[in-house]
Amino acid sequence: MPHVLVLGGTTEARRLAGVLAGVPDGRLRVTSSLAGRVAAPRLPVGEVRVGGFGGVDGLVRWVRTHGVDAVVDATHPFAERISLNAARAAAVTGVPLLALRRPGWSARDGDDWREAGSLAEAARAVAGYERVFLTTGRQGLAAFADVTGAHFLVRAVDPPEPPFPPRMDVLLDRGPFTLDGERAILARHRIDVLVTKDSGGAATAPKLTAAREAGVPVVVVRRPPAPEGVPAAATVAEAAAWVQTVAGVSG
Ligand code: NAP
Repeated sequence: MPHVLVLGGTTEARRLAGVLAGVPDGRLRVTSSLAGRVAAPRLPVGEVRVGGFGGVDGLVRWVRTHGVDAVVDATHPFAERISLNAARAAAVTGVPLLALRRPGWSARDGDDWREAGSLAEAARAVAGYERVFLTTGRQGLAAFADVTGAHFLVRAVDPPEPPFPPRMDVLLDRGPFTLDGERAILARHRIDVLVTKDSGGAATAPKLTAAREAGVPVVVVRRPPAPEGVPAAATVAEAAAWVQTVAGVSG
């Protein structure tokens, strides 16, 4: 039976595992892989493995040992390391690899966006603001640890560990978020700047609408470059079709 490895940790990866689970029994084996960063992750249906593979060599070993026939890199657009490892492992093993990458966001009329090339640049961009809504996740908080002039509202799935900004409140929550909820946060916390990664997708987009409505500027951290030479799909349906073709289970 063809075996597909889905590198996950995103809504799209969970949805892809769900769609592939619909392939009739016995025709496709799907394993979803999670890094293990989140204490209580939302699990996809089907087989799940958790934890790093041990670099490119570990991923190559896993792919070979488990007879993987195709890999979908459905990780977050900012998960740069695992995407690079997947590209290298595909080159070594010859196992077909597809990146499932949701499109980034685009500014609309009324948006006041400032691009930042990195979290460090975003930290410099918030200098001069007083109340920052930081939605870039708990992993990169160190980049903001030296920003002493502003108060931060940090939204994260799990409690952050230091280093983090000295003046900070934490909002433990995970998407999807609603427009009303995002409006309320901006108002209640008197936010004067929002910081986000260009994650794309609908689940966390309402904050951008709320910021536009409230005239709050948004510092948008640009995506890191994707590994070269890896074909990409923008939607779960496209990725599912690719898997079925590569695994020979279409129709
Ligand atoms: P990363 O920097 O690209 O990866 C660091 C290491 O974590 C990798 O080298 C790999 O360890 C392990 N890893 C990452 N994703 C994995 C997966 N799906 N399965 C098994 N091991 C994985 O990744 P990250 O930015 O810390 O993100 C970690 C996870 O959180 C990803 O699955 C991603 O989809 C999800 N996520 C990330 C963000 C973000 O902003 N970065 C946001 C939402 C969700 P080994 O080298 O030992 O294999």
